[in-house]
Amino acid sequence: MIFLILFLLPLNRSSCGGNVFSNWWVASSNPCSVCLSSCLLEQHTSPTSPAGPTGQDYWSNKYPYCAGSFQSPIHITSDLLRFSPTLRPIEVRNYKLSSTEQLTLRNDGHSLKLSLPPTMYVAGLPNQFTAAQLHFHWGSSNWPTGSEHLVDSKQFAAELHIVHYNSDKYPDINTAIDKSDGLAVLGVLIKIGDFNPAYEQILRFINGAKYKNFEVRVPGFNVRGLLPARLDEYYRYDGSLTTPPCFPSVLWTVFRNHVTISHQQYLALVTSLHASSVQNAEVTPLNNNFRKPQPIDSRVVLVSFKEGLLVPILLSCSILGVVLIVAYLSCRLRQKR
Ligand SMILES: [Zn+2]
Repeated sequence: MIFLILFLLPLNRSSCGGNVFSNWWVASSNPCSVCLSSCLLEQHTSPTSPAGPTGQDYWSNKYPYCAGSFQSPIHITSDLLRFSPTLRPIEVRNYKLSSTEQLTLRNDGHSLKLSLPPTMYVAGLPNQFTAAQLHFHWGSSNWPTGSEHLVDSKQFAAELHIVHYNSDKYPDINTAIDKSDGLAVLGVLIKIGDFNPAYEQILRFINGAKYKNFEVRVPGFNVRGLLPARLDEYYRYDGSLTTPPCFPSVLWTVFRNHVTISHQQYLALVTSLHASSVQNAEVTPLNNNFRKPQPIDSRVVLVSFKEGLLVPILLSCSILGVVLIVAYLSCRLRQKR
């Protein structure tokens, strides 16, 4: 019974609406927009590179939220999962863009980012969330382990984030970015496998964004093709931007099912780009741009699907059973004495 009560507990969202953050970020002179992936980011620290004074272990020196609560990404493990019957399939609207639409693919020195038109949005969430941009996180050619979210100790080759802001409440992403209910991000885990024609709609232009601040025009395509076939199975939790200033403003949806890109497509992603600008004599490759998993704190992860949850259910029942048996035996022992 205790287990059942715990199982049905809703996710405890810290607060909704309003600016729950201090004004340090708003007061800063940061001019960037749409910067979930990084405008303020100075350098990711890869697992294989030394942690320099600008690496992610030091972000909080300048950006206090990075050491705060409700941070992302997280390691999604079975014991965190709670089935929620209220989680409906994700509904993406106007994701099929006309080829006459012009998008901007940009290397911002930290990721590869594609602008998205405001006609695209996600329905079925507590509010309507309008698309702003998508970007990627990835590993390196030697280490195809660049996803930000881990699932049951598995790190995927790469991860796609499609960033949306709460357009019911806020006029633009800059206003929404530091609000507790400001953003919704769709996360797609990417594995190396079959060639993916939808991802090729972006990757075929990657050489036009070779250096930091380079950008290239990309014709519109069906963005729905970047997502897994099933949009009804996903993990849901409250988290943050995965780059400074790390605002805990993101309603995360990480799809349960991964997509694949070919080995050649993965190599194009991890070897084509430089984190350095073209004028810079020292060439810095742009890879391993993922943040390591953050503390869970008091969070649980809601899931929209039931199957696969049998193991944690049985485990919890077993633990409860052992506790009851021990209590019964000790009770009997006391009676005998
Ligand atoms: Zn991201």
